[in-house]
Amino acid sequence: NGRERIHLNEINELSRNMFPPCMRSIHDRLRRDHHLKHYGRLYYGLYLKAAGLSMDDSMEFFRNELSITNPEKFQKEYSYTIRYIYGKAGKRVQLSAYKCHKIINDNAPGPNDTHGCPFRHFDVKNLKALLVRYGVNNDNDLEEIVQKVTEDKNYTGACGKYFSIKYGQDLPDQSVYHPNQFFIAARRAINN
Ligand code: SF4
Repeated sequence: NGRERIHLNEINELSRNMFPPCMRSIHDRLRRDHHLKHYGRLYYGLYLKAAGLSMDDSMEFFRNELSITNPEKFQKEYSYTIRYIYGKAGKRVQLSAYKCHKIINDNAPGPNDTHGCPFRHFDVKNLKALLVRYGVNNDNDLEEIVQKVTEDKNYTGACGKYFSIKYGQDLPDQSVYHPNQFFIAARRAINN
């Protein structure tokens, strides 16, 4: 269930096998650039917390990724964000990870941002490239997803289709409403 913990040393593998495209693409950018802008840190940090990552593991995860290039930047930007996410800084409230609706409709990402929903915020060429990278190789499947995005504007349905292709089973309503729902369902599909 959603209360299970995840650990530092399994994040790479979980990301590859069970994370939704929005979070996997933040993860990939972090691994590649060793940097995330504000909303990327916030969205991914909240998601990892909801997935069961402890604050200490979250600190270490982001520190490992960043310290390669810039330890001061970690202290100034990431450390605060992580404490904030876990209710230890700023407003000190328990924050929830964002739902798809919010990721799709709020804080539209700029060119160097990593947050957002690939189905909503990527152009068709980049979306297709991402889907192929993430294992969707059949042309009909790709076209079906693109059609849901471009014609139906059904981004969560496009993500539901991606889920069906990847895990061989449908989500309720064939649609995704929360990145952590995607993760829990993917873990269940793989482990069963
Ligand atoms: Fe993430 Fe939701 Fe978009 Fe899927 S539909 S990629 S879970 S924001």
